[in-house]
Formats: sequence, structure tokens, C-alpha cells
Amino acid sequence: MINLYDLTQDDLSALLAGWGEPGYRARQVWTWLYKHKAAAFDAMSNLPKDLRARLSEATTLHVLEPVAEQHSIDGETVKWLFELYDGQLIESVLMHYEDERRTACISTQAGCAMGCVFCATGQMGFARHLSAGEIVAQVVTLARRLQAQDERLSNVVLMGMGEPLHNYDATLAAIRTMIDPDGLGIGQRHITVSTVGLVPAIRRLAREGLQVRLAVSLHAADDAERSASMPVNRKYPVRQLIAACRDYFEQTGRRVTFEWALIYKANDTPEHAEALAHLLKGLPSHVNLIPLNPTGGFDGAPSSPERVDAFRAVLESHSIPATVRVRRGIDIQAGCGQLKTEVMRRRKGQGVIHYS
Ligand code: SAH
Ligand code: SF4
Repeated sequence: MINLYDLTQDDLSALLAGWGEPGYRARQVWTWLYKHKAAAFDAMSNLPKDLRARLSEATTLHVLEPVAEQHSIDGETVKWLFELYDGQLIESVLMHYEDERRTACISTQAGCAMGCVFCATGQMGFARHLSAGEIVAQVVTLARRLQAQDERLSNVVLMGMGEPLHNYDATLAAIRTMIDPDGLGIGQRHITVSTVGLVPAIRRLAREGLQVRLAVSLHAADDAERSASMPVNRKYPVRQLIAACRDYFEQTGRRVTFEWALIYKANDTPEHAEALAHLLKGLPSHVNLIPLNPTGGFDGAPSSPERVDAFRAVLESHSIPATVRVRRGIDIQAGCGQLKTEVMRRRKGQGVIHYS
């Protein structure tokens, strides 16, 4: 069964041409998939009935089975747990901001191989890569939900489960589908690729001719400290990582975002902020400060608002723009990997284990 969301427009043209369909059909199907976000072939009313039948025999649109949906108390964040064809579970989150922004946070892998100690997904280990179509389907599903409310998905962040640059080809193919102006039409500058810091892949991304935003999960400026919580740092130490970020800026002209999860007394002192400022000297950047989301497998605590403020003040004194990110949907386990952990805990209680 072909997942239709895996196909580029060219792939779709080739498939339909092989079935003897006229050239304009691919454009029609593409429009149904990404402009109308049709959930079923029956809805594709300008396609002949026999083509619809053939599409439903040979291909599928049904690649994500929702198994849990949670709404934050303020109603501004919705989180889904989706089951894939082989039983793997992934999370996607839709966030409404006060302005017009509607942001989808989507997954690129089931689990993650990078093993960051503070991360619920890292604590699960790696199951498999998602296909491009499984990544795209998350965007379509969330955009469809918004469309039903006369709203439009404006932003996508690849900050759900998994490391996007470890699944490079599928991630790039998915981004190319998302930015297609004849389809979903998400602005390149409104797509953020968040990475743990895979240096060769950052350099490769810099040369794709794209304008996507790069966010690097730094969390420590010192190699010994970073390696202790993020094993990837042993392979790609901080200086190499920052050099790749400079390269990204030089190639794309885009300021790099650095993510810093503030962990009480571990990386939240003014000295840590000074070290970060020193590291970023001369690199156009932006720092996102996020108080740690506590997870079962890690005993760190989030920094207090006073410590967060003091940290930000040090960065500001060095003219480094920093934003404290509100922890969205904290009441619905909206931290990466947390809803799945919660559902698995409950399923285990019922004797049903879906995932190992
Ligand atoms: N693998 C990519 C993207 C997914 S993780 C990456 O690591 O960048 C998305 C973000 O959530 C990363 O910045 C990650 O460091 C952060 N994160 C993971 N666990 C967290 C936690 N418990 N509290 C706060 N941020 C966390
Ligand atoms: Fe993987 Fe990102 Fe979690 Fe690290 S923080 S384990 S890279 S998902």
C-alpha cells in the first residue's frame, strides 16, 4: 500500500501516468491532498469514480490512527498520540498563540537514538525512522483540524519525538512537501528544524537552498557538562557545533536559535550564562530559555522564575536576545515523549503492551 503523502508531485504524476491517467490528474489529486486536506478519496469529487476506486485499492491516506487526544486546560494546546501501521506511537501537538500563529509540533522518529538524559523520548530509545509521508501526514492532520475552524496552520516545528537530522532524507522530503505553494504552503521561514547538534547534517542542511530556521539544543556550553547529559557531544563537541552554526548563518543568512532547558543548579547560574554568551560571541543568534519539563527518568528540577530571569539578564547584558518560552500544555504532558509515556504506563496496567 502506497502512503500518498510519501510522494512528491513528480512521483504522483508518474504513478497516475502509469495508470493511463491524463497529465492534469496529478495536480488535481495534489490539490485534494494538500489544499483541501481531503480525508477520504470519496471527497475528491472531480475525479472519476474508477480512479477513486483505484486510488483506494493501491494507496492510503490513513496513516495515523489517533489513540489519545488531550486538551490543555486553557484550550490553547491540543496533543495527539497517533498509532502507525506497525503499532509505533508518535506525538503531535497543535499550539494556538494570541496572535494569528498556529504552530504544529511534529515527530520525525518513533523514539530517539540520541539518549539525552533529561528527555522522555531519549529515555525510550530508538524504534524507527518515520517516512516522509508519516511526517507530512501529521502536518496535514493538524492543518485539517484548523481548516475545519476556518483557521490556517502557519508554523511547523520539528520538535516532537526524534532527531530530524538523524532521519535526514525523510525530513527534507517532508519539508519540501510542506513548503509547496500549490499545497500546504507553509512559509520556509516558519518551519523550524530542531537538532541535538549533528554537525555534518547541519552543514548539509545549510546547502539545501532553503530558508528554514535552525534551532540547536545546546543546554550546556562546556564539553564535559554537555557530554554528561547529551552523549552526542562526545562525537560532535561544542566548538565544532558552533562552527557548523556559523556556517549555517553564512550560507543562509538566518540567525540560529539555541535551546537551553534550564535545570535547577545544573546549568542555570550566572556563570553558565556568561559561558553561553562567550560561546555565541559574534554569531547572530537567539536563545530560547525553557525551564526543564520534569520526566520520570531524570531527577533534575526546573529553575525558579528568579533564576530564569537572572540568566536572561546576563544574556541581555551581552546583547544576546533571549526569550523565556512558556511551557505550553504542561498539564497535558506536552513535553516531548511524555504523553506516550503516560499512555504506555496505563496500557501496561491493563496488560496491553504495544511498544517495546
Ligand atoms: N531531537 C531534536 C528535536 C526534538 S526535542 C532536539 O533535540 O533538538 C525538542 C526540544 O525539547 C529540544 O530542544 C530538547 O532538548 C528539548 N527537551 C527534551 N526534553 C526536555 C525536557 N525534559 N525539558 C525541557 N526541554 C526538553
Ligand atoms: Fe532525541 Fe531530542 Fe530527546 Fe535528545 S532531546 S533524546 S535528540 S528527541
